Amino acid sequence: MALLTPDRYFSRISSVDIDRDLLGCGRTHVLLDIDNTILTRDTHEIPRDVGMWLGRAREAGVAFCLVSNNWHDTPHRLGAELAMPVVAKAMKPLPPAFIAGMRKVGGTRRDTVVIGDQLATDVLGAHAAGLPAYMLQPLVEQDLPHTLLLRNVERVILGDRVPEPAVNIQKTEGERL
Ligand SMILES: [Mg+2]
Repeated sequence: MALLTPDRYFSRISSVDIDRDLLGCGRTHVLLDIDNTILTRDTHEIPRDVGMWLGRAREAGVAFCLVSNNWHDTPHRLGAELAMPVVAKAMKPLPPAFIAGMRKVGGTRRDTVVIGDQLATDVLGAHAAGLPAYMLQPLVEQDLPHTLLLRNVERVILGDRVPEPAVNIQKTEGERL
């Protein structure tokens, strides 16, 4: 796999079809970025569709570990709120945090995927650790200054690759009933 090429590219996490894109691929463990992946950078909230998706994925048997470069108390607060293990101050893209996260949830390289919104940390780090990466568009435009600079590089690398659109959660919910 090319180090900077995401294995899949989605508009947001709720675009990932839990049955098809996770369980159907044998991916039952997810190492999950926080900022602008599940938590908005501007208002620090988990959007409703994201919260619903996380609940549905866990009901379906997917195990999550939060892996974040954030140095504040956000990862641990969120981990407690969501009852998910956490690897904070992860120093992504260095591989050790991904390996630690995988161990925390009992995953292996065969059944684990990294999901995050940045090429230089989440995608590069996942691939350096020998894991596949699902990249998401950031939840909001606002981000740290150095991240915004990197976004210009991301745009060049991603070229005209178009993110896969959101699935219709209402329809999916209906299908499950
Ligand atoms: Mg992020």
